[in-house]
Amino acid sequence: MTIDQIIHKIKEHNPEADTTIVSLAYDFAKMAHKGQKRLSGEPYIQHCLHTAYTLTQIKADIPTIIAGLLHDVPEDTTYTLKDVEKNFGKEIATLVCGITKLSKIKYRGVDRYVESLRKMFLAITSDLRIALIKFADRLHNLKTLDAQPPEKQQRIAKETLEIYAPIAGLLGVEHLKWQIEDICFKYIYPEEYKKLEYRYEVEKKIERNQYFSRIKNILMKELQNANIDCTINHRFKHLYSIYQKMHEKDRQFNEIYDVFAMRVVVKDISDCYKTLGIIHSLWKPAHKRFKDYIGLPKPNGYRSLHTTVFGPDGRPTEFQIRTKEMYEEALYGIAAHWQYKTEGDRRNEHQPKWITEILELQKEASSTLDFITQAKIDVFRDRIFVFSPKGDVIDLPIDSTSVDFAYAVHTDIGNQCSGAIINGKIASLNTPLKNGDVIEIIREKQRKYPNLSWLKFTKTHRAQSKIKQHSRYSKLGALANYIPGFPGKN
Ligand code: MN
Repeated sequence: MTIDQIIHKIKEHNPEADTTIVSLAYDFAKMAHKGQKRLSGEPYIQHCLHTAYTLTQIKADIPTIIAGLLHDVPEDTTYTLKDVEKNFGKEIATLVCGITKLSKIKYRGVDRYVESLRKMFLAITSDLRIALIKFADRLHNLKTLDAQPPEKQQRIAKETLEIYAPIAGLLGVEHLKWQIEDICFKYIYPEEYKKLEYRYEVEKKIERNQYFSRIKNILMKELQNANIDCTINHRFKHLYSIYQKMHEKDRQFNEIYDVFAMRVVVKDISDCYKTLGIIHSLWKPAHKRFKDYIGLPKPNGYRSLHTTVFGPDGRPTEFQIRTKEMYEEALYGIAAHWQYKTEGDRRNEHQPKWITEILELQKEASSTLDFITQAKIDVFRDRIFVFSPKGDVIDLPIDSTSVDFAYAVHTDIGNQCSGAIINGKIASLNTPLKNGDVIEIIREKQRKYPNLSWLKFTKTHRAQSKIKQHSRYSKLGALANYIPGFPGKN
């Protein structure tokens, strides 16, 4: 890897970019790491270059790329963070400092896990770009993991799979997530990896490619007739996600429909839906396999139309239809929004909702462990989408109830809720909500306090803390966690 490759890649995405300072950062990093080698025997600067290159691939902004080049300077060389700041300014120094803090993990075992997770959340809430640099850094460490002793290989692969990969997913950086996951998968489950790799890469590859050209030609012709500009390619799901699907749903390789998917990229949203219509008129759609993530994006912002149809020879085939913009968002996540933003809008705009939630959690949690448990429940769990009667979308953790919904809308609505109408039918407040439910909260206006027994069935941290905070016995409410048998105590 050379600095010229990095500069070339930056110019590819952004021809106007001033890359002088990128070259200077490279000279500085090279001087600082002079004579150092990686365990693999390579000059250390290669690690810095690879990290920075990955960041250019996800279209990170210039300060992030520079921080990628400099990320190990304070930690591993005689130069300090002050030196970085003096030469490259405060913004870059702050990013580098964030990475340095992340790498200082004191504990082992479970504590280590908790600490890494907490530090990662802290880093994300201070500046999302720190997480991106960490992913790029970790990706290169994974690619050179063979040089490490086996024990360390296992530890790093597990930690990455459990902490970094899910967070990369939450931030929507698919391009890094799948690479990270597949390498970890190879180290943690080598046998399964080999088996799947064989089926996937070797077996029937020619036949499969023929099938895809066939389906592509048919669709291309129809889309051209309808004046829809498009590019169609096919892609194979990455190995770890296939493994997960087989594992979770106890299915065989052949039973997984979306092992291979066709991806259709078109000009605008209206063409997405037109294309969907054409696909469904060509081939019969499979039952319940259509998902409209354009109308209802995933919590990490992912947008696309997904459908599975019975293609030629009745073979189940998945299509993902999206615009070019959606395509880039899906690959690069938040990084894709970064380029042309000024400092001010970066903080809030496009910051997924769960990050704000984590910030809130952090302020309220009484201990680190408390925070981590809660963060895992609120963030790492699958979410559902429900609606207010006006059509506002609220996303909640699975098994949330009308009370969680009420508090997510407004604290007053939560405090005054006395009943719920779910999809037009009266339902008890503890009924678990399902995706797509429409919920109307019945309020009792003169009511002042929430009911402490709601603590037994509410799922969100927000609802739980508001109930305790506003309860008639709010002082007792705070004690609820410590009194055996107290309402809300599990
Ligand atoms: Mn590093």
